[in-house]
Amino acid sequence: MKRRAIIGAVVCAVAAIAIRQALPPPAQPLTAAPTGVRGAMHIHTRRSDGSGTPEQIAAAAARAGLQFIILTDHGDGTRMPAPPAYHSNVLVVDALEVSAEDGHVVALGLPQTPYPLGGEVRDIVEDIARAAAMSVAAHPGSMKPQLRWTEWSSPFDGFEWLNADSESRDEHWRRLGRVLFTYPFSPSASIGTLLDRPDPLLRRWDALTVRRRVVALAGADAHARLDVTGDDRPRRAVLNVPSYEVMFKTFSVTASGVRFGGNADGDAAALLDAIRRGHVYTTVDALAWPGSVSFTASRGGASWQAGDFVPPGEGDIELRVDSNAPSGSRVVLFRNGAVEATGAQTLRRAVPASPAVYRVEIQLADAPGNPPVPWIVTNPIYVRSEDAKPALRGGPSARVPLYQDGEGNGWRIEKSPRSKAALDVARTTTGTQLLMRWAVGGTRSESPYAAFVMPAGTLLPAYDRLLFTGRAEQPVRLSVQFRLETGERWRRSVYLDETAREVVVFFDDARPVGTTSQRRLPLGQVRDVLFVVDTVNTKPGSGGQFWIDDVQYGR
Ligand SMILES: [Zn+2]
Ligand SMILES: [Zn+2]
Repeated sequence: MKRRAIIGAVVCAVAAIAIRQALPPPAQPLTAAPTGVRGAMHIHTRRSDGSGTPEQIAAAAARAGLQFIILTDHGDGTRMPAPPAYHSNVLVVDALEVSAEDGHVVALGLPQTPYPLGGEVRDIVEDIARAAAMSVAAHPGSMKPQLRWTEWSSPFDGFEWLNADSESRDEHWRRLGRVLFTYPFSPSASIGTLLDRPDPLLRRWDALTVRRRVVALAGADAHARLDVTGDDRPRRAVLNVPSYEVMFKTFSVTASGVRFGGNADGDAAALLDAIRRGHVYTTVDALAWPGSVSFTASRGGASWQAGDFVPPGEGDIELRVDSNAPSGSRVVLFRNGAVEATGAQTLRRAVPASPAVYRVEIQLADAPGNPPVPWIVTNPIYVRSEDAKPALRGGPSARVPLYQDGEGNGWRIEKSPRSKAALDVARTTTGTQLLMRWAVGGTRSESPYAAFVMPAGTLLPAYDRLLFTGRAEQPVRLSVQFRLETGERWRRSVYLDETAREVVVFFDDARPVGTTSQRRLPLGQVRDVLFVVDTVNTKPGSGGQFWIDDVQYGR
């Protein structure tokens, strides 16, 4: 009996020592409160595949010392977002994560959309921009190919340099095993040991910011459920770890210069405006808490903060980094992605006012990760004029008409069994145009669609684009498709609304529908041009009409 008690005590003692040995160090406590509001973004609630209600998640955020949370349930934009509200003194902002066929897009500040967002990332980014909202590339570095971001040339506004979901997917099972062992005793610090510095993502970001502003954010991607299958689809929670509170204590984003007054609408607008401008930095709170940094530029009497554009000109710009970083930390100033200078806790640097992009990382001694995750990442200061709108390709110098007036020559209808479609000639003051009426019916499994088919003719290979004037009764996204004799199709989706305008579809912008024998559209083999309404951007059971005129090829 006594012997058994002694063995039991020894086993307990050994286990306690083993746990102590394996435990990651707790977050270093810091003084000096950050200037701004701290919160978390990219959070799933019970409305999609999360496990908490907005109120429960807000309470968890309050316990973690956060002032705001941005909820991003999976959706297509047709759900009316909940108005901003305070719960547990935490501002709750409702946003959205859209699953595209080639990545996931977080939309901030997006009102209810007139049709479901979906399809390709480039179209979702365009739809979000049209609504004057902000698009963020979600978990761009995911190990899962279907979750990874590939659309780096689309004009998205921000990206998640850090995403907890991506970070946990790329871990070796041995590292994950240790986290499961230490998690009950030191949860946030344990999750923190899974973080690395995502070098390839940061290199991409540095390359992009030389051309345009791209806001770096950190996505908690909090679900508070253990994902055993890893396919990011809604399902019942298996186990509610890591909890929202633990995720919120692992890392957060701070919108600098923002002060909440208690009015949810006004505070949410100020927060989203700051995020859009890049007045936001990330802190890995599991390492040291609460982290604070100020990265500013000044010249003469004028000053700017991270995210801002400093007009180039004569004389030097004084860059300043101040932080409450613990001793032993290293402040790293990057210029166009290369290390420009380093300092301890603070840094001062005079740089010429010639075009360049500067940003700051603060690294702590003994940070986890390989390479070690930075404790703080700021947004850049851009020394250049504000970004100009991207240059459009020039107008065509040659055109050939395909439809001007009268009946469309050889135009016809194709549709799924339970959809309806009709093609009419409508009179206008100057002639006629084609009126297309459609109703998409049937279940999603039937892939319902209505299409208007124009024979491609023999002239297409001599041109590089399709042009037409289009107008719709209500906003709609049409899929313009090019079909070969073999049935293989390529597509480019276009937006139409109540205002008639010229739409241009470049042939080299068309991408394969499903699997095709080659990636590029073989112009010489196109038999039909289709104007398709399908369930990518249309709810089954809906209908409408649109008008098409002056169809041409151009080059
Ligand atoms: Zn996602
Ligand atoms: Zn997500």
